[in-house]
Amino acid sequence: MVGGLFKNMRQNLDFWRNNMYINDNVLQAAHDFDVLKVVSCLSTCIFPDKITYPIDETMIHSGPPHDSNFGYSYAKRMIDVHNRAYFTQYGRRYTAVIPTNVFGPHDNFNIEDGHVLPGLIHKTYIVWGSGRPLRQFIYSLDLARLFLWVLREYNEVDPIILSVGEEDEVSIKEAADAVVKALNFRGEVVYDTNKSDGQFKKTASNAKLRKYRPDFTFTPFHKAIKETCDWFVANYDVARK
Ligand code: GDP
Repeated sequence: MVGGLFKNMRQNLDFWRNNMYINDNVLQAAHDFDVLKVVSCLSTCIFPDKITYPIDETMIHSGPPHDSNFGYSYAKRMIDVHNRAYFTQYGRRYTAVIPTNVFGPHDNFNIEDGHVLPGLIHKTYIVWGSGRPLRQFIYSLDLARLFLWVLREYNEVDPIILSVGEEDEVSIKEAADAVVKALNFRGEVVYDTNKSDGQFKKTASNAKLRKYRPDFTFTPFHKAIKETCDWFVANYDVARK
């Protein structure tokens, strides 16, 4: 069960309970049916709120998560505990990936529940919060390619962060500007500072990924934004929103 900052703030209990049930059901069913590999999906928002940057894979359990999404964060952290225990008790190689903020075609473009880029692509003229927080965004098609690589070739039980580099971190304002440009929006863009900024940043290191995949090329941010905006416009009637 996933959602953007604002859905998380409204439904911490649901995020905690549903994800705990999903974790236990999926992993135990996989084990019962002798599934050899499971790749679960965590998120960089589960890392401790007060931490040194850049964040890496060893820091998942090093302190409390941000208040806004503690239900989701603690539930997702438990997948790492599950994976370690399936390995130590049964030798299972179940693992997890930790993507940064994902966007792309077929996303959930719902304004209230979705993440920032699909939300901005849907409404464009109003940005929630100050625009100052920083995020590393990953294009869903790049993430899909990396997921397949993890499934086929990554053999560790310990999780791996799937992210663009620290140098590609952008502010929410820069992300909003990219959407405005891609949609050729000419009106005024308003910042609603009554809305929360959430976590200021969660800068993640992709050094582990780079060690395995020094050659991997990420789609340039503006190209990926343009493709996503074009998809949304062309599929407005059927898009989840
Ligand atoms: P997060 O990366 O886990 O915090 O989740 P989001 O994808 O929901 O991003 C939240 C950040 O984007 C916060 O700084 C918000 O203030 C900002 N933001 C600006 N406009 C929007 C919007 O339309 N929807 C969402 N979800 N966040 C927005």
